[in-house]
Amino acid sequence: MFKKVLNFSCLLISVSLFSQDIYLQCGQLLDTKNGKLSDEVTVVVSGNKITKIENGFISGREQDQLLDLRDKTVLPGLIDMHVHIEGQSSPDRYLKRFTDNEADVALQSTVYAERTLMAGFTTVRDLGGSGVNIALRKAINKGIVKGPRIFTSGKSIATTGGHADPTNGYKMANMGDPGPKEGVVNSPEDGRKAVRQRYKEGADVIKITATGGVLSVAKSGSNPQFTIEEIKAITETANDYGMLTAAHAHGDLGMQRAIKGGIKTIEHGSYMSEETMDLMKQYNVYMVPTISAGKKVVEKAKIPGYFPEVVAKKAIEVGALVQETFGKAYKKGVLIGFGTDAGVFPHGENAIEFQYMVEAGMPATEAIKAATVTNAELLGMGDSLGQIQGGFIADIIAVENDPVKDVKTLQNVVFVMKEGIIYKQP
Ligand SMILES: [Zn+2]
Repeated sequence: MFKKVLNFSCLLISVSLFSQDIYLQCGQLLDTKNGKLSDEVTVVVSGNKITKIENGFISGREQDQLLDLRDKTVLPGLIDMHVHIEGQSSPDRYLKRFTDNEADVALQSTVYAERTLMAGFTTVRDLGGSGVNIALRKAINKGIVKGPRIFTSGKSIATTGGHADPTNGYKMANMGDPGPKEGVVNSPEDGRKAVRQRYKEGADVIKITATGGVLSVAKSGSNPQFTIEEIKAITETANDYGMLTAAHAHGDLGMQRAIKGGIKTIEHGSYMSEETMDLMKQYNVYMVPTISAGKKVVEKAKIPGYFPEVVAKKAIEVGALVQETFGKAYKKGVLIGFGTDAGVFPHGENAIEFQYMVEAGMPATEAIKAATVTNAELLGMGDSLGQIQGGFIADIIAVENDPVKDVKTLQNVVFVMKEGIIYKQP
């Protein structure tokens, strides 16, 4: 017993005296805040933090680890504000609600989490699943599962028959009458209870489905589905508990209610009018475009039988709008966050969104800033994530080419470090 204690204390002393720092020699380093590249710098990582950035290629003490990224471009880990880490689109998606157990969902989600991390996304916001996403966050934080840092909404909040009513499309005998606990609300009182329930379950953010959506088995993909009083009750309660709010919204009227009701981010924004864009600016609300999802559902809707007929029709109508609307909103000066809706398309392909944003007229530096600096600020972590700076958390990635000139290079991340731990290296 005594020997064990002695060994343990010796270990502690040796850790503090001989801790190993990591020296990353970077060919180019991207300053995500100012969009500037610097050549030949060394980033020093100690434990889970970046301690300093030095000009030139330097190395540390004998025990320190040296990493040669001299022919790579280095930037902070990417952040995706809109994923669904529990699942992935497939033709049997609707059947799976009846055949998959929670354990099935949990096991597959660990694979999606790892793919996301390996693609350079070191932080994600999960905007809706069954609640397994909360358990996944815990497992990743404990180091049991490899994956990105997760901020999760648990189960998202809808109204009866709304986009995230979990029993949409069921036969009537099985529909039941889900309530606030299951994320279905029909009054401001219900809304408050649903938020508090999510807080109790361990959610970090609140997601509502302010309008109809594409993938639910329901007729409208855009109608308003909450009253403004319901939305206000939800955002006020979420603010009391320090929870960020996000609204799925395709239709314009539902979007306006969400903005005026105090929601912080509008997801998709497909039918956003110029008037609503002005409202977004007036209320400092961010648009999270998810162009990738829009494009993917249009592609899949063309495959016979991939979606139920009612869904395929909406996919073609709504999905095609997202990129163009985003381009207009960006030009009009609407605040933009970066999010993809990964899960609607394969996890790990998140970075294709950069290409779509650039195609719509946003410069690559701005798109990268949205996925790092802006998203970190939205998550309340602007002083520790989204930049490579002394004192920041060591979430660092590297790509082959200069992403400012070749944005597609972000689809091939060759080095991934999260909290000072290396998960992928060239
Ligand atoms: Zn989504």
